[in-house]
Amino acid sequence: MLLLPVTMFHLLLVARSGPARLLGPPPYLPGLEELWSPWALLLCLTWLGLQAALYLLPARKVAEGQELKDKSRLRYPINGFQALVLTALLVGLGVSAGLPLSALPEMLLPLAFAATLTAFIFSLLLYLKALLAPASALAPGGNSGNLIYDFFLGRELNPRICSFDFKYFCELRPGLIGWVLINLALLIQEAELRGSPSLAMWLVNGFQLLYVGDALWYEEAVLTTMDIIHDGFGFMLAFGDLAWVPFTYSLQAQFLLYHPQPLGWPLASFICLINAVGYYIFRGANSQKNTFRKNPSDPRVAGELGFLGAMSEMGQLDFQGSPHPAMCLSPDLETISTATGRRLLVSGWWGMVRHPNYLGDLIMALAWSLPCGVFHLLPYFYFLYFTALLVHREDRDERQCRQKYGLAWHEYCRRVPYRIVPYVY
Ligand code: NDP
Repeated sequence: MLLLPVTMFHLLLVARSGPARLLGPPPYLPGLEELWSPWALLLCLTWLGLQAALYLLPARKVAEGQELKDKSRLRYPINGFQALVLTALLVGLGVSAGLPLSALPEMLLPLAFAATLTAFIFSLLLYLKALLAPASALAPGGNSGNLIYDFFLGRELNPRICSFDFKYFCELRPGLIGWVLINLALLIQEAELRGSPSLAMWLVNGFQLLYVGDALWYEEAVLTTMDIIHDGFGFMLAFGDLAWVPFTYSLQAQFLLYHPQPLGWPLASFICLINAVGYYIFRGANSQKNTFRKNPSDPRVAGELGFLGAMSEMGQLDFQGSPHPAMCLSPDLETISTATGRRLLVSGWWGMVRHPNYLGDLIMALAWSLPCGVFHLLPYFYFLYFTALLVHREDRDERQCRQKYGLAWHEYCRRVPYRIVPYVY
């Protein structure tokens, strides 16, 4: 809990320093007067208030989440993309009315400090709220009895006040939209400094806007992710969503503002191709699983049920660990059934590796770093950190799935032996 904010401030300081050396001491230690600003806190809270107001606007759709322990399902507004568009309109209006967006990069340190403070206080309130929550509302992980551990992991699975879901709100809105806003401010400042934004800055902005736009366009898919289904809402997610994401994920654009990098069209086109391949895998895998989880008989993921498949659907065939459990849904998308009644995809993207979505995400992460050249490690921080995060995340998910699906999971691992990178890992 201390190391994460310290790392974030280290990265912010290094990005603006001349040598931009990731490994080594920070260029200097900022005093409290450089970190603390009531204006930054006000801006941070106004931002959260604006995003909360946009969350409460009528949604184009209200989606149901996965079934909870008490067999109920929560409802979630699907209006994240609308929030992004409305924010863009408001920012555009503000800029044309004289809002100095290019001043934002100068405020990154106090803003990051304000976001960290907000995340700590928010996590404390979430912890206290969880003390009043019924046992059925608690997350599987964050209730060990160890105060610090539970504060970090989060005790309550879906803390809400009326229909306002705090975890779902924080997951994709203030941090992700804040990230692309910081990127845009850096691009504008670069244009003011150098006459026009560099090609590298355009690429980083474009790739990351695509990532954020995609996350909000397919917002419903977040309802089947680990964060929503499994993790409690505590410091880990609150700090990650509100501070870590906007301030460290914008590191490449921060680096480029202070360290312009020459980039020609041929290399830029190649980097675009890498990003496109990553995006194709990432989107294909996430959509396939999400469609399947929402409705296993959706024609996009399921064809005609075979005889054994139909039998297992009717509950007449259970998976007993035999080499050929359950059956295919279609020649393209094969599945195996599990004792829980849920099935696992063993073909399509999920038959290539056990986490194809992570593979696509990592390829994109590499494409975001490449425009920054190869002479500094700092812009590759995201790629390195993200690799560690996803390897650890995959391991956590693996353990949960083994526990949940038992023999069927072993069978899945036998059929699909690689975790993230085919023939490598
Ligand atoms: P996943 O969306 O991969 O969800 C894992 C769950 O999917 C498992 O627990 C299991 O749950 C289900 N599942 C696993 N295998 C199969 C299968 N073969 N068939 C059907 N269902 C299966 O994990 P995450 O929530 O970690 O990631 C979601 C996305 O978010 C990824 O693309 C990831 O890269 C991205 N991400 C990005 C981050 C960032 O900071 N940029 C951080 C974290 C994630 P069940 O069976 O219960 O449905």
